Amino acid sequence: MQSYVQKISYLIDSIFRFNEKPRCPFCDSMLYKVIDRKYYFTKLLSCTSCNLYYRFPVEKLEKSELYYQDDYNELDGITSKMPTSDELLDFKKSDFIIGSKNADRYIQIFKQLMPGKLSDIKVLDYGCSWGYISYQFKNKGFDIQSYEISKPRADFGNKNLLLDIKTDHNEIRLNNDIFFSSHVIEHHPDISSMIAIAKKTLKNGGFFIAVSPNGSDEYRYKNPHGFHRSWGKVHPNYINANFYKEIFKNYSYYIGSSPFDLRDINSFLNEYQVIGNLSSEELIVIVQF
Ligand SMILES: [Zn+2]
Repeated sequence: MQSYVQKISYLIDSIFRFNEKPRCPFCDSMLYKVIDRKYYFTKLLSCTSCNLYYRFPVEKLEKSELYYQDDYNELDGITSKMPTSDELLDFKKSDFIIGSKNADRYIQIFKQLMPGKLSDIKVLDYGCSWGYISYQFKNKGFDIQSYEISKPRADFGNKNLLLDIKTDHNEIRLNNDIFFSSHVIEHHPDISSMIAIAKKTLKNGGFFIAVSPNGSDEYRYKNPHGFHRSWGKVHPNYINANFYKEIFKNYSYYIGSSPFDLRDINSFLNEYQVIGNLSSEELIVIVQF
């Protein structure tokens, strides 16, 4: 969601860049199909080579990095807005059910993937904003480190939630068991580099987990309105199951949508590639590197 001024400047930007040639931000292919449109000038394209859905015009990398320092604003009142001390107290008391950021469903997945002592499980929360999910992982006993591009949000979490949030990729520790990201990949201007960082910082056999809005056909069929709403200025990529199937075709993976069925996770651990239900709004991929 965006302010009126942001919407207008986005529209003007789209008009000026209308004649640029689309190029897939993941694989550089210039072959595409138009999937959806907004305000006529802004299109959702499907890369015919890697299946990524991406918004055109595409955000420039430098612009994105600056954007996430200060301008990025999701109007759910928690993702990008740092809470007052009273709000923070309410969030904590309700286990973040107030603010709709309760992380129990992710914690169940971690436990299913890696039975054993939670304090032995090293989790990296990548793109953690001010740390509302990292905090819950830490409270449950996981060994947690986090990364966030925005320095003000990282500072907030380090100071108020006593987290270990890094703002430099080079400071991310190695040999993590789980590289977790919640609602990051759809914003990321360079998905390949995000996956490369995961591979570098995971131990052999570690799990890459990404949760994002669901751009899969099954969800669009069930909820065309929700599908149309979910892409735009703050979501330059719209991730769908076919994109994951293509880019992770040489790995063991599970692709599904919420509510996550732990039996699917079990079959993923025993079989090679598992696709679960894809018809709800939150998409998840778990890949073993
Ligand atoms: Zn592509």
